[in-house]
Amino acid sequence: LTWAQCGLPEKIHQLLKKNEYEKPTPIQAQTIPAIMSGRNIIGIARTGSGKTLAFLLPMFRHVLSQDRPKQGEGMVGLIMSPTRELALQIYSECKKFSKVLGLRVCCVYGGANIGEQIADLKRGADIVVCTPGRMIDILCANNKRITNLRRVSFLVLDEADRMFDLGFGPQIMCIIDNVRPDRQTVMFSATFPFKVEQVARKILVKPLEIIA
Ligand code: AMP
Repeated sequence: LTWAQCGLPEKIHQLLKKNEYEKPTPIQAQTIPAIMSGRNIIGIARTGSGKTLAFLLPMFRHVLSQDRPKQGEGMVGLIMSPTRELALQIYSECKKFSKVLGLRVCCVYGGANIGEQIADLKRGADIVVCTPGRMIDILCANNKRITNLRRVSFLVLDEADRMFDLGFGPQIMCIIDNVRPDRQTVMFSATFPFKVEQVARKILVKPLEIIA
């Protein structure tokens, strides 16, 4: 499969070329067309497989196809990650594309100044990368003006197994309960233990399972 066969917008093709991503990795070739068709996906893939772009590229296309969030509206794309390191990694991959695509991306994670992250969110974001604990802190600290999840229609859980191992289960469920049920949901996990499978059954409608 080539990038052209994935059906991504021309602008994204140019950026892939510029960043020397010559062709899709196996997990990208399998998941991108499925995600672009609107399916909910469970991808079993490890770091190094190219899983980040597998969800980011279709997310860019989705967000570009929506009305941009206006002042006071929340993000359209939300990505949850288990750790600050992974959140920052996803954010940095995002940055290679977002500027040229004209998308505003925010990254919120624990262990850093919450005030700056709140200021960032208030300026407006199309896409937010978060760790679940910090996201809950921000949503709860809310005098309803920092941000909200009402416009989220594309949701990603990255390294789901690790998020549950780290005990983020309740925070994740609380966030998802506040996202519209007709959203598209993409889950990536390195392993697929029973606990993750149970959660997947709850939060993904008719998911397609793809193993890298
Ligand atoms: P990930 O598994 O998402 O953490 O990606 C691992 C590394 O592979 C990152 O440094 C990406 O920039 C890189 N990468 C992702 N997709 C491709 C691709 N199609 N071709 C070459 N490198 C890639």
